[in-house]
Amino acid sequence: MNIDNHNRSQDSGRRSESLLLYVLLEKFIIYYMRFREWATRVILIFLMLATLILAIFMGGARKLHNQTIASTSAATTWNQYLPTQLKSSVTTQQKKRNLVPSPVKIHKINPIYTTTIAFAKYRPNFAQAKVDPSNYGDRYTADVNGVPFNHQPIIVLHETTNSTSSAINFFQTPHDDESVQASYHAIITLEGQVIYLVPPEKRAFGAGNSVFKGANGVETVQTNPNLPPSVNNFAYHVSLETPPDAWGKSDIKEHSGYTEAQYNSLAWLIAQSQVSDDRITTHEAVDVGNGKVDPLSFDFDKFFHKLHSFRQLETINNAKM
Ligand SMILES: [Zn+2]
Repeated sequence: MNIDNHNRSQDSGRRSESLLLYVLLEKFIIYYMRFREWATRVILIFLMLATLILAIFMGGARKLHNQTIASTSAATTWNQYLPTQLKSSVTTQQKKRNLVPSPVKIHKINPIYTTTIAFAKYRPNFAQAKVDPSNYGDRYTADVNGVPFNHQPIIVLHETTNSTSSAINFFQTPHDDESVQASYHAIITLEGQVIYLVPPEKRAFGAGNSVFKGANGVETVQTNPNLPPSVNNFAYHVSLETPPDAWGKSDIKEHSGYTEAQYNSLAWLIAQSQVSDDRITTHEAVDVGNGKVDPLSFDFDKFFHKLHSFRQLETINNAKM
């Protein structure tokens, strides 16, 4: 009995011991499971965060890389010529560029003109439209015979002869025939909106057979053996939208003219260039035998008056060097 009792108490002791162990084990397992669940979550969150940080970092690095590409291409002659387009399309990049100095040495020309307060106050709308690559090309440093040249830029004014949208539609259509390919660098709509088309560092096909007669004599260059020489290689082509009364009319000598907003925006655009007044010309003036008369009814006095209110010759102190 005693033994039995003893045994019984030993038995019940063992039973409660194993029960306790069991409960403890169970609790341990539950805690372990919970811990595992928690740890998995933490690891997952950590991995997600790490991926995110990596992605942001890589994105930043790529942007930085693009920036250097943009600044190297922008560092060529055409940047100093008409930086408008670059300025407007990559304003944010340029801001960043100030923080990260480019390793590329920028060839600087001496600025002759600076923009005025009136210029800063005038803010035209602008937009950008892509042109099919068949309708423009690279700017060359040598002609078809390999003879190098270094023409100073000129600005050639045009008119669209139809609506802006029909002109853009034509430029966006691929053209295989070299004699048909055409484009401008920019169009100014009747409302004064500046629409950037071909980037300034590229050669827009704004004129066929053409020459510029300036202070340096006759300037023209042949870059395509199949086409006559032209001013395209050193020209920036800007076109004004023709007033609706003249749309599609080919043999008229004048029309109702351009809007005040068009003169303002044209002056605003050109005020940012270092192209001197005597190198601003028209399609009519540079054309050789194609019967081009554009831009019709253009008021040069009004244009130069506005241009001079938007840019001025640098003072002697600044112009030194
Ligand atoms: Zn023209």
